[in-house]
Amino acid sequence: MDYSHRYHAYPTQAVAERLEHHIDVHRQAYNYTRYEYENVDAENIGSAYKHHYRLPDWKDKYPVFSEVNSKALQRTVTRFYQNLSNLSEKKQNGHKVGKLKWKSPTEYQSMTYSQSGFKLKNTSGRHATLELSKVGDIQIRYHRPIPDEAEIKEVTIKKETTGEWFVSFGLETDDADLPEKPDGDSLDASNSVGIDLGILNYIHTSDGKTVDWLDLEDDYERLRREQRKLSRKENGSNNYEKQRRKVSKGKRHIQRKVLDYQHKITTWLVREYDAVFVEDLNVQSMLQGDGNARNKQDAAWRQFITLLEYKGDLHGTHVVQVEARGTTKECASCGVETAKPIWVREHSCPACGFECDRDANASLNVLQRGFSELGLGWPESTPVETTLPTDTDSVSAKRVVETGSLGA
Ligand SMILES: [Zn+2]
Repeated sequence: MDYSHRYHAYPTQAVAERLEHHIDVHRQAYNYTRYEYENVDAENIGSAYKHHYRLPDWKDKYPVFSEVNSKALQRTVTRFYQNLSNLSEKKQNGHKVGKLKWKSPTEYQSMTYSQSGFKLKNTSGRHATLELSKVGDIQIRYHRPIPDEAEIKEVTIKKETTGEWFVSFGLETDDADLPEKPDGDSLDASNSVGIDLGILNYIHTSDGKTVDWLDLEDDYERLRREQRKLSRKENGSNNYEKQRRKVSKGKRHIQRKVLDYQHKITTWLVREYDAVFVEDLNVQSMLQGDGNARNKQDAAWRQFITLLEYKGDLHGTHVVQVEARGTTKECASCGVETAKPIWVREHSCPACGFECDRDANASLNVLQRGFSELGLGWPESTPVETTLPTDTDSVSAKRVVETGSLGA
């Protein structure tokens, strides 16, 4: 299984300058790969693997390419071909795409060490040291450990537009080292959970927990204020540049807050349950989308599911996406569909009389679909009414942020 961990990095002034130089050499290598791909007719062009064989010649011709780690240089050539294949994939999906562009310094801010040339040291405390060959030691804030059984495949170091540095470790854990997921017979409604992506709540679980949306009003207000200030500065001036950094810092601050929140909720879910079922987002409808807000929400939900899935693998918890269509309309007790406008908060079934909260009904449907997705029947002896919690426990965002848990 592949996943990644990201950490804040604090290079010294001298090391930061070296990093910037290296990244700029990589940028030139990227642009040169692109140049050769478009203009040079040679046998060893056309795939990353073949193109790597051109690197010794490059180094003879342009000694600057010898200044950086050679595996990392290969990785940059590979990055060009990866971008190329992403582009053609988009094209196949009917998007209008241009050609890959030449990258200016502001557009190229990272480099990746692959397989070798890096070492993670002093990992016992809250800080650790990343050693990069030809660059030096970089301190990172090691807020969550890399699991013992994980192998570090690559390391990407990036300078954000805010001026902050981050390192991201590409990790691989052998599937054989992952904990086994409980087999079907041991799963029931008591150790499984269905999750509805709420409109009023961030999530609503089938056992009656609701978790609030994270309140970002103040953060957005602050960001809007900084953006207004930016619009009054003269483009290109020193003050403009300063203000632009403030704006990107504000954006990153919000992104990080959301990510941290999602980490806490997903960690809690995989620890608490043996199986977690979520709605599958239809990728097509997501791309088309209806409006920016909806897209943002979908993107946040997709990030949530990605986190949930890899943590499920690491903790031995089933994470299954189920068909999302009709989870709200369908009655969780008898299956009859009833149209429900968005403002109707109660589910009240005209066919069987089952009544409960609208989102509770949806999450129960997700739970049942999850069972059949895993090839398990819904236990006959468990009428859906009895799985309903007697009370809804509403968890505030504040409690999640402060205790890192949804539990009491
Ligand atoms: Zn019904």
